Amino acid sequence: MKKGTDDKNIKNVIEAIEKRGYTARPIPGGDRVSIGILHNAGSVDRAHFSGLSGVKEVIPVTKPYKLVSREFKQENTHVRVGDAVFGNASLPVIAGPCAVENETQILAIAESVRKAGAKLFRGGAFKPRTSPYSFQGLGEKGLQLLAKVRQETGLPVVTEAMDVENFALVEEYADIVQIGTRNMQNFSLLKRAGQSRRPVLLKRGLSATLQEWLMAAEYIMEEGNSNIILCERGIRTFVRHSRNTLDLSVVPAAKKETHLPIIVDPSHAAGIRDQVMPLACACAALGADGVMVEVHNNPEEALSDGAQSLYPDQFSSLMSKMNAIHAIIKE
Ligand code: PEP
Ligand code: MN
Repeated sequence: MKKGTDDKNIKNVIEAIEKRGYTARPIPGGDRVSIGILHNAGSVDRAHFSGLSGVKEVIPVTKPYKLVSREFKQENTHVRVGDAVFGNASLPVIAGPCAVENETQILAIAESVRKAGAKLFRGGAFKPRTSPYSFQGLGEKGLQLLAKVRQETGLPVVTEAMDVENFALVEEYADIVQIGTRNMQNFSLLKRAGQSRRPVLLKRGLSATLQEWLMAAEYIMEEGNSNIILCERGIRTFVRHSRNTLDLSVVPAAKKETHLPIIVDPSHAAGIRDQVMPLACACAALGADGVMVEVHNNPEEALSDGAQSLYPDQFSSLMSKMNAIHAIIKE
């Protein structure tokens, strides 16, 4: 739609789309609204809409993913949470332990990452673990502790919803709901996230192509939620020197294809603390829209992912490095 088009024109275009049996999905942008035409079986005749008042252009989207594509919306989507903006060329950092373990632990970690400059706190209350015998998370008690972190530090919290059943509970407490790697193609969960008012952090599947990942984001957006942050977290390869392989090249590739912000989690890619620091610096140099890092005050005793968790001091020095690198590439 043209810049500054009034609501009446937008409503009129939506009605014209729906009258033809298609679905209309308006997506507010920076200074203009785009209206997606979905569920068309064949090609859409542009002439039906191009003459309507307020319409700037009718653009056919050639990609299988429609709403998330840059063809559909050229300008970057900004996802705002607390003080942080994902997608506006800043570098918000999300930090915290893998799992919420107890109050003393998370309050201590939250205070140290806040001081170091993290904009959001992370911590799992429902943990997707490879083994059923590993710590599964504190559940609702963990969510309550995250609410306490937000209250005490002012940091918004990011936590994972593992299934449709616990989604409502998680979104009640979370400022951003994470969908984990193992659930990237859990289509019922994606649809449920699409109905949420909360922004969604969508991690890339263990062996997902960029196209599969964007199709997963399309499921969320198709349900009406356009506040989606993509998160690269390493993919499964043949190597043994790291837990996964951080696919840095997916960042520029994704930015070309989608208007959604894309952040990087070097912790789950590396699996080893010593690799996290250089990889996080690379994320800052890459033009990623944010970084997520695991930090623990006592990683030797951590109930999950201790080996990849940074000590608070390391995190603080990493923040200075990332900020310095980001300041250079931003120019
Ligand atoms: C996590 O971030 O806590 C997590 C489990 O990550 P992933 O889904 O990337 O393995
Ligand atoms: Mn973890």
